[in-house]
Amino acid sequence: MKKDIHPKYFPQAKVICTCGNQFEVGSTKERIEVEICYKCHPFYTGQEKIVDTRGRVEKFKERLKKSEKLKAKISSQAQKEEKTSKQKEKILREGL
Ligand SMILES: [Zn+2]
Repeated sequence: MKKDIHPKYFPQAKVICTCGNQFEVGSTKERIEVEICYKCHPFYTGQEKIVDTRGRVEKFKERLKKSEKLKAKISSQAQKEEKTSKQKEKILREGL
């Protein structure tokens, strides 16, 4: 190895994650701060964690709710209509 061209190597550099997890790696930096690690990344935890930008998820959920309400309304209306048509039939039959 050439002298004075290699950075200092820390075989036990500390990695600190925002989730509180800490572990050691070999690095040229003594201390590494990260936002996500193998303990809190959704790929490893299997938990759903959405990084929501501009409330897109909120908007989608709202739309979903609206469509469900509309569907319920339509189906209840359809049921009512069925009833009324049956009643009409009954009235017609009784009238005859
Ligand atoms: Zn973490």
